[in-house]
Amino acid sequence: MSFSEDLDHLIRTDEPLSPLVWLGIGGPARFFAEPVDEAELQRIYREASEAGLAIRILGGGSNVLVRESGFDGLVISLAAAATSELAIEENKLIAGAGAKLSHAVIKSVGAGLGGLEHLVGIPGTVGGAVVGNVSNGGRDIGSVVESITVIENDGTTRVLTQHEAGFSHRKTSLNGLGVLKVTFALEPRDVSALTKRMQKQWISRNAARPSEQRRIATPFVDPDGIPANTLIQNCGLAGVREGEVSLDTTHPQYLIAHTGATSEQCLKLIERVREQVLLQTGIDLQLNLQIW
Ligand SMILES: Cc1cc2nc3c(=O)[nH]c(=O)nc-3n(C[C@H](O)[C@H](O)[C@H](O)COP(=O)(O)OP(=O)(O)OC[C@H]3O[C@@H](n4cnc5c(N)ncnc54)[C@H](O)[C@@H]3O)c2cc1C
Repeated sequence: MSFSEDLDHLIRTDEPLSPLVWLGIGGPARFFAEPVDEAELQRIYREASEAGLAIRILGGGSNVLVRESGFDGLVISLAAAATSELAIEENKLIAGAGAKLSHAVIKSVGAGLGGLEHLVGIPGTVGGAVVGNVSNGGRDIGSVVESITVIENDGTTRVLTQHEAGFSHRKTSLNGLGVLKVTFALEPRDVSALTKRMQKQWISRNAARPSEQRRIATPFVDPDGIPANTLIQNCGLAGVREGEVSLDTTHPQYLIAHTGATSEQCLKLIERVREQVLLQTGIDLQLNLQIW
């Protein structure tokens, strides 16, 4: 497949994805693009879908496991300035999907707007967070979303309400749609109280994370009621290893890809843990990690 001549310079072929994902492993994308604005993005989407290419948006890469064979389609980054802007309008934060979630949290707290501060320290972008309805302490991001601008495969855009996005426990009905922009409806609050809350969250998150590990992922969704961490601990699976991939010994909700790790090993370990947890507790752990 080839793109129109004026788009061609934007499209890279066989682009390595491993440097772009937290786990640092996996093969290349057949095509990769970082459009500078929405108009360019729409054209790329249209041409790719007319050619029957599968399309995925890559955010911060903190929740993606890329197989060794790579991704046979088009991967799009929304990291350009125009697709990652943040703006405050009265009690609303309007965020480009490519903006880092941490920047969105800091911006809203600095403007004295509450509702996102408990999400500080969750890696990734606003788009990735909204698609997966990230949560912390039982409060999810969907509860403060007012509307979402999405792009369809044919390049058309439309605005969805919070209700239409179908937010539920670590899920939305946005699968297959690209998230371009999100409007959050927030509550005016005292800046210094919000800042203190955010700092407290930040410290407790860092304390509950494997130290000095960058190549990590949280493969499982916490089932309603009992955290995946506790379930895995109780099943005696903390520290379990498959080749160069292991679960952390202290915080076993984290999977760690050591030097020499492969995607195949990650998948084997995840399957083993799921099987054991199911066998011992009857709970079928659901995957958080997206497998490409
Ligand atoms: C150390 C660590 C701690 C974490 N803590 C938490 C936590 O406390 N709570 C929690 O809920 N999660 C947590 N996660 C999981 C992860 O950070 C979140 O799922 C995060 O929101 C993923 O965002 P991302 O931009 O990195 O998405 P990516 O990893 O880039 O992508 C994840 C999925 O979202 C899709 N996607 C990304 N952007 C868009 C877009 N704009 N439009 C459409 N689809 C898109 C991708 O195609 C992919 O399928 C943690 C992960 C790590 C590594």
